Amino acid sequence: MTDRIRGRWAKGGKQDWHTFPTWTVRVRLVNGTRRAFIKLPSGDWRWRSVWRWEQWNGCSLPRGMNVHHKDENTLNDAIDNLEVLTLAEHMQRHRDTLNVAKQGAYVRRSYDCVCRYCGRDFVAGQPKGVVCNDQPCRTKQNTEKSMRWQRKQAAAQR
Ligand SMILES: [Zn+2]
Ligand SMILES: [Zn+2]
Repeated sequence: MTDRIRGRWAKGGKQDWHTFPTWTVRVRLVNGTRRAFIKLPSGDWRWRSVWRWEQWNGCSLPRGMNVHHKDENTLNDAIDNLEVLTLAEHMQRHRDTLNVAKQGAYVRRSYDCVCRYCGRDFVAGQPKGVVCNDQPCRTKQNTEKSMRWQRKQAAAQR
């Protein structure tokens, strides 16, 4: 892990990673997310989230476990924002968050419309909402639809 980080720095960074003093925190892009790394007295760079967790708990992170950021801000390595999960739990957590975000987007997608039957304002999920949710208006719309259909059928028969 440390070697990989070191390699990235050695190759990509303009500034030589050797020159950073101990406890320097640097942010790198890892798989599209910003992550903080910290330089330890040993000269190794570590993920700051993992390092914080280990400092707090006094043991090393169990193998195969992931450190998750509860608020989805990958730079917020505050100890109460960190949660240790298995890979499966971790992936599930992100799926849940994604679903909530999607639902939020859906709720926000609403349009102010005017009912063509009662003339009242209503909020629709589609920009072309023409009928409100009141039963009489719904019935009127359905009647109109079936009449249109009957007229079409009659025209086809002629
Ligand atoms: Zn996560
Ligand atoms: Zn209406």
